[in-house]
Amino acid sequence: MDELAQIAHQIRACTRCGLANGRTHAVPGEGPAQAEIMLIGEGPGFHEDQQGRPFVGPSGQFLTELLESAGYRRDQVFITNVVKCRPPGNRDPLPEEIEACAHYLDQQIALINPKVIITLGRFSMARWFPGQKISTIHGKAKYVDGRVVVAMFHPAAALHQRSLRSLIEEDFRRLPEIIKSVQGKADAQPAPQTKNDGAGEQLSLF
Ligand code: URA
Repeated sequence: MDELAQIAHQIRACTRCGLANGRTHAVPGEGPAQAEIMLIGEGPGFHEDQQGRPFVGPSGQFLTELLESAGYRRDQVFITNVVKCRPPGNRDPLPEEIEACAHYLDQQIALINPKVIITLGRFSMARWFPGQKISTIHGKAKYVDGRVVVAMFHPAAALHQRSLRSLIEEDFRRLPEIIKSVQGKADAQPAPQTKNDGAGEQLSLF
């Protein structure tokens, strides 16, 4: 079993927080181990909990369309969440649940070593853009620890608030340009070490 699969295995057996009690399936995340882009949502919803896969409900369908509008296929990117088990009734994850799960997200980021992290919504945004408001920084990127981090609205926001839809669509359409605008800074830095070197081929998205 590769290291990413081992983490997924640990997540499926995890009892670090109370969310374990209510889950049907934990949702470790999915995508290529050599993905250059990683998307991080909030936590599984009903459909994700049922299927054990991230973003497979209505917001997932919209996310797939948004990715395609930016020129990326869903199967080229790694998709995961801040918490890997569904919060009851889709409530916000609690700080202690995020804390209990952070260790898995840290390991996934370290192993995949993506060039770009896209945060979807407030909870993943808070890790790289603390104290910021999504309404202010959506569609903006910064260079952190050897990678580009882009803050995006959560796709569900557009489904709940129709007025946000065109904003989100515009942010995703601009994604390649947003990434490129900070990529120059990334290229000026030494390449981050990857544990995947030589582990497989992934077509470069850049
Ligand atoms: N919303 C999320 O944040 N993550 C999912 O996997 C599905 C919906």
